Amino acid sequence: MMADKEVYSLPVVLADRFFMSEKSLAEISALGGYVWADVRYHHDLANQLSCSPSVRIIVSEYVRIDGFVLDRAPGLKGVIAYGAGTDHIDLKQATERGVLVCNCRGENAEAVAELTFGLLLCLMRKIHWSDRYVREGSWKKTEGAALPEWAMGRELQGKIMGIIGLGQIGSRVARIAHGFDMKIIAYDPFAQAQVAAGAENTPLEDLLTRADIITLHVPLTPSSEKMINARALAMIKPGALLVNTSRGKVVDEPVLLEILKEKRIGGAALDVFASEPISNNHPFGRLDNVVLSPHIGAMTQEAGERLSASVARQVRDILEGRKPECVIE
Ligand code: NAD
Repeated sequence: MMADKEVYSLPVVLADRFFMSEKSLAEISALGGYVWADVRYHHDLANQLSCSPSVRIIVSEYVRIDGFVLDRAPGLKGVIAYGAGTDHIDLKQATERGVLVCNCRGENAEAVAELTFGLLLCLMRKIHWSDRYVREGSWKKTEGAALPEWAMGRELQGKIMGIIGLGQIGSRVARIAHGFDMKIIAYDPFAQAQVAAGAENTPLEDLLTRADIITLHVPLTPSSEKMINARALAMIKPGALLVNTSRGKVVDEPVLLEILKEKRIGGAALDVFASEPISNNHPFGRLDNVVLSPHIGAMTQEAGERLSASVARQVRDILEGRKPECVIE
């Protein structure tokens, strides 16, 4: 449901429905107030904004903020991406209009890094199948009865973890992978040396051909869109696993689907998709070498607290004329 015109006279618009702590909301209230627009589509937001010249800041997790929206918010000073990804915000259009674009860099990184291993362990140990097996009463104490073949899993220890994108999330994945006693290789042409500590930075082709597990942690940009294409997928070792918690469009999905159907790689764990949400009859859902989750990478209470605190700090800085902590330049 959309808010009425009157409430858009407040300086901060929270575009879609994401977690904000009571404390952070109270801080923003004290700075002049906020309204939940609660929209899914940018044209709904644009319609509301055209009546609201007093809006100074838009916070958006997924709602697209492009020139169309920006033109309808003449008083806008900043757009804050609720999270790490800023592919839904047109940076060029915002910069041209003197509007700052910020994100909440790092605040949800631990959540995504931990989910990466949760998905991997599901894929390697069939935890989701095992739960169903017990619940449906298939685990019977019959003499000589063995567990089904699928119950035989694989271990992380000693495997080569290939991390593509060694930023906030990728470097945390590397840290956790060390705990599993894995060898870590990474591809990130822009990574700083200190971030890459403990990981061997290597060309993409080398990573694809060597890794037992490939995990994607790049932002969606023109350089990363479909970087995991037919050529890249063909280089992956048979039996290797692919985890994508970055953005669906980083992978050429139709090609991945074919490769998984033909079992040319071991499997995939996917938290993100080119178009979300995917339906319950999506072909990925029919494959037994795939684990799916509904874009829950950042969804932990702890990340929610940190994200909302970061939003409140950056709202304060923008409204008070200071440079916020995570400006995208
Ligand atoms: P980050 O900016 O800290 O790290 C991204 C890294 O990728 C950087 O080190 C950068 O140098 C590298 N990179 C950029 N383009 C590359 C390319 N073409 N090839 C190789 N490396 C490249 O961001 P982060 O916080 O680690 O987040 C990464 C992405 O994860 C976000 O942009 C977002 O799309 C996604 N994400 C998903 C969820 C989720 O819920 N599943 C949550 C948070 C973030």
